[in-house]
Amino acid sequence: MPTIATIAALLEELAPARLAEDWDNVGLLVGNKNQTVKKTMTCLTVTPASAAEAIEAGAELIVTHHPIPFIATKRLTAESTAGRLLLELIAAGVAVYSAHTAFDSAGEGVNQRLAEGLGLRGIVPLTPHPEGQGAGRWGRLDVPITLEELAGRLKRFLGIERLQMVGRAEQQVRAVAVGCGAADELLGAARENGCQAMVLGEARFHTCLEAEANGIGLLLPGHFASERFAVERLAEVLGGRFPEVEVWASRSERDPLQWG
Ligand SMILES: [Zn+2]
Repeated sequence: MPTIATIAALLEELAPARLAEDWDNVGLLVGNKNQTVKKTMTCLTVTPASAAEAIEAGAELIVTHHPIPFIATKRLTAESTAGRLLLELIAAGVAVYSAHTAFDSAGEGVNQRLAEGLGLRGIVPLTPHPEGQGAGRWGRLDVPITLEELAGRLKRFLGIERLQMVGRAEQQVRAVAVGCGAADELLGAARENGCQAMVLGEARFHTCLEAEANGIGLLLPGHFASERFAVERLAEVLGGRFPEVEVWASRSERDPLQWG
């Protein structure tokens, strides 16, 4: 059976910590690296539901996209949601690893897979990192399609029925940018690269107005949907590399945002 250190080494290979943003908190955040692992759960976020699922299943390791703890933490008490979850996980002997923005930006990370899923070619980072790869991606479609057709493609790839859209449904798009999760700051780079459309997980109102003012069509599938698929792929990759470990993507986590 591999140890947490062995699995962490593969995760570091897939999503090198040097690609993470400065403000981020990535790597092994909780746990003993010498612990052996029989069960691992991947998830987008550690929530009461996903934490309970990992504990009930007897997982030794959670690989979560969003870090916990995320902010600098001086005390660990049950007064905060993060503290409560961490206390429960530690008591149950569950370690926590997060690659977050390193995984967003990695060569086979979330944004690369999203860009490939849309059928883009010549995919490159929107804001290249000095040590290779970088944040966001953009590329071109073989032939121009309408924004509405691109939306259909995105919905099929992510397995969702609805998304939010800024721009004219019939506008032609060929150069397309992607930024999973909350990545409003990448819109400027998409514009500079001449992209006619951009996929963001979510966007602030003023980012939507900025896109509209510049004729850039925006597709917003939701923060959850824009990243959750990658957590499922990651479970497959880990399971493939460590066949003796039972690896699954959390079956209990849900998008907290519902359509009313
Ligand atoms: Zn995210």
